[in-house]
Amino acid sequence: MIKRILLLLGAGLLVLIGVLVFNTLTNTVKTDTVASIPEVAIDTNAAALRLATAVTMRTISHAHDAPVEVAEFEKLHAHIDRSYPLVAANLKRQVIGGHSLLYRWEGSNPSLKPILLMGHMDVVPIEPGTEDNWDHPPFSGKIVDGAIWGRGTLDDKLSVFAILEAAEYHLAQGHQPERSLYFAFGHDEEVGGKNGAGQIAAYLKEQGVQLAFTLDEGMVIVQGLMPGIDDPIAFIALAEKGYLTVHLTATATGGHSSMPPRETAVGKISKAITRLEENRLPAALRRPVSDMLETLSPHMPLSLRSVISNRWLLEPVLVSQLAKGGTTNAMVRTTTAATIVNGGTKDNVLPSTATATVNFRLLPGDTVDGILDHIRTTINDPAIEVSIKQGNEPSKVSSSTSDHFALVQKTINEVLPDVLVSPGLMLAGSDTKHYEALAEDSYRFLPMRFSKTDLPRVHGTNERIMIDNYAEIIRFYIRLMENAG
Ligand SMILES: [Zn+2]
Repeated sequence: MIKRILLLLGAGLLVLIGVLVFNTLTNTVKTDTVASIPEVAIDTNAAALRLATAVTMRTISHAHDAPVEVAEFEKLHAHIDRSYPLVAANLKRQVIGGHSLLYRWEGSNPSLKPILLMGHMDVVPIEPGTEDNWDHPPFSGKIVDGAIWGRGTLDDKLSVFAILEAAEYHLAQGHQPERSLYFAFGHDEEVGGKNGAGQIAAYLKEQGVQLAFTLDEGMVIVQGLMPGIDDPIAFIALAEKGYLTVHLTATATGGHSSMPPRETAVGKISKAITRLEENRLPAALRRPVSDMLETLSPHMPLSLRSVISNRWLLEPVLVSQLAKGGTTNAMVRTTTAATIVNGGTKDNVLPSTATATVNFRLLPGDTVDGILDHIRTTINDPAIEVSIKQGNEPSKVSSSTSDHFALVQKTINEVLPDVLVSPGLMLAGSDTKHYEALAEDSYRFLPMRFSKTDLPRVHGTNERIMIDNYAEIIRFYIRLMENAG
């Protein structure tokens, strides 16, 4: 009897191993190889100079309630009109929300749904005290060492200018798209985009415009950040995380600290934060992160490939591994981050209130209401009031199997043949949320090449774009307009 059970178990184990090995070995690269196209000739130096000039215009978004740098935006608009005369002459241009720009390039076939390419003209301020750390002043637009230096060269004047370079190129060639193209350039993305992208989207909705897809900044080409993959990877974000900031207020009896109650307001708020940090939201593998792992796993080392290929059995192992890293944890979880605490003003006085601010970034599939429930039940203290400071739901998850995705992917393969393409999840927010309801698919990708050391340049010191990479970005948009239009 025992022998038979052992035999059965042994046979079962063999079958299991067989399945695991089979799944691993059959998990190979599925995409057809796309032929690269010959490099389009563009005047790279002239293009670099136009972007460099745009950098000198201080279109800074200071805060969402701060006044707009009107004169600087007007200078930038004039610079755009001067730089791209064919765009100015042939495309319909509207100023919306005061300083944002919307262009429409009429296609010859009105039955094709338009696509919308996005960028933003505003930039973040320079953190006070860091001005001297820049190798070249942040608004100098210096062209040195094969790079254009300054605020906006990565985020995100380069999108605006690369899109316009591409349109001007096609117009000079006498090209006319079959499909209508929109270009939308916001002026307040860095402070939420309500007056720019928000108003452009409202205008398009009012006009009854329905878009095939939108393409915005967001994810980029990274190298050396994915375990076991040496090739550069272009991540096309199919979704972005949601955002929720809550304000917690603890109340207690105030008075002299010589006779404190058992629990003070400061103690209560500290306990609430501790409970939230100790009871994080559960980790889960969901789209688009699962799409990303499936796409990239054939390129990964055998150990990782075998785990990802056998998710039906090993998903818990995979999720717990991902939850260990900083970036990968943010891909599988709604994150919890206490960012501000306040309470008390004097050594010997009990404050009657203490407050905390906690920021959550919501994984697609979670909801603001669900997170609020989690907060209340986790804190489990009726003396702590929970209120929303700011909140928006995670975006929907766009398709990675649609013609639209295939079109962006093909364009990348044609122009940047050394790069792998994968779906991705954007951990921060973008202007795309404003257009989501108008488009079948919303993608966030810009072919900037990033290494580990480049990440801190965005919103940081020594922001700069390599001119060779800028030329690739222009060629990407040229080809995208061709493929889409
Ligand atoms: Zn940006």
